[in-house]
Amino acid sequence: MKAVIIGAGMGGMSAAIALKQLGFDVEVYEQVTENKPVGAAISVWSNGVKCLNHLGLEEETAALGGIVETMSYIDGHTGETMCRFSMQPLIDEVGQRPYPIARAELQLMLMNAYGFDDINFGMKMVSVADGPDAATVHFADGTSASGDIVIGADGAKSLTREYVLGGPVTRRYAGYVNFNGLVATDPAIGPSTEWTTYVGDGKRVSVMPVAGDRFYFFFDVPMPEGQPFERGTAREVLTKEFDGWAPGVQTLIEKLDPATTNRVEILDLDPFDTWVKGRVAVLGDAAHNTTPDIGQGGCSAMEDAVALQFAFRDHPDDVYAALDDYQAARAERAGDLVLRARKRCDVTHAKDPEKTAQWYSELREEDGTNIIRGIVGNIVGGPVT
Ligand code: FAD
Repeated sequence: MKAVIIGAGMGGMSAAIALKQLGFDVEVYEQVTENKPVGAAISVWSNGVKCLNHLGLEEETAALGGIVETMSYIDGHTGETMCRFSMQPLIDEVGQRPYPIARAELQLMLMNAYGFDDINFGMKMVSVADGPDAATVHFADGTSASGDIVIGADGAKSLTREYVLGGPVTRRYAGYVNFNGLVATDPAIGPSTEWTTYVGDGKRVSVMPVAGDRFYFFFDVPMPEGQPFERGTAREVLTKEFDGWAPGVQTLIEKLDPATTNRVEILDLDPFDTWVKGRVAVLGDAAHNTTPDIGQGGCSAMEDAVALQFAFRDHPDDVYAALDDYQAARAERAGDLVLRARKRCDVTHAKDPEKTAQWYSELREEDGTNIIRGIVGNIVGGPVT
């Protein structure tokens, strides 16, 4: 069996490793010319970590992951702690610690596990087509590649998705902008083993540890889509947006590097059930584009990769049966996570300010039980139990 994978993001690389483990001949094509992921880090929740472990990356993942012992919510204006609780009950319940990991390091780990030199960089797919004996992709340089299957792991603006669905789709602006980056840990911002979140006015400022004594930080700011922004000016924008906020937030704004701080408008896509057309399938953000509000987009891509492996393990000689199984295993679960994230997004970012005020009140009463129950609800249901 030969698989052609389009996209060397975390979805494409996880799928490449998963299919290689089954003995597939795998070719990966990536449009960019180097490993330079957009975004600073992600939180790989326990379901994602279990998938990486399954792909043989247990030690490497643990070495890159930050240790989150506790979680806290702080009133953004006063600096008062609304709640603080241990993550241990979550780890005990799901049987795996989550790991925030710097994106470039996660990406490099996956690329090395597959074989960095075997990735075909600088290859932009311009079309894909199914055939009776093979599926074929064409590249911008005029060349092409064929395989028993084509896996479109080509991200949120997927061309493969357009082929599978028979036309383009419109993504939805979720109403806020996310600024993110990495910064040295600093107790003035938050404890080095805590996921600390400041909230107020539908805004959110969060830090969580990644390996190497660094925090992954992000700021969520509700604003209209398409506002002008010049890269390098994040400090000015954030100083204005978080004027009067608690000292920990001010320290973070002072310490961050505006040159490497990313600004991302957050969009998502209504879930859809058709992930496969003949020998062509979508995977990762191409199949389920979510807001990052429950930190599950990348984890879901890793789940896709393992589910794809299981489907071909069960139907080694039948492409159509395997891809059918893959779609059946994934579409509902991934769509559910997109909708859960959308719901959280609306509460966090004050789509209805009364509901958000209610959430802030609940946070003051929280002992961790409800929040952990919610996170466990996102984690369970993946292919690796
Ligand atoms: P991508 O990472 O987008 O990779 C797609 C690849 O395909 C790219 O390298 C692209 O260059 C390539 N490509 C595209 N088109 C072509 C083409 N025509 N030809 C060749 N190559 C092509 N997820 C989590 O699990 N936890 C988190 O905490 C989390 N936080 C997030 C925070 C933010 C602000 C955002 C925006 C997302 C977050 N996510 C998180 C989601 C996560 O980043 C994505 O779900 C994940 O990156 C999807 O991986 P992917 O491989 O499917 O797509």
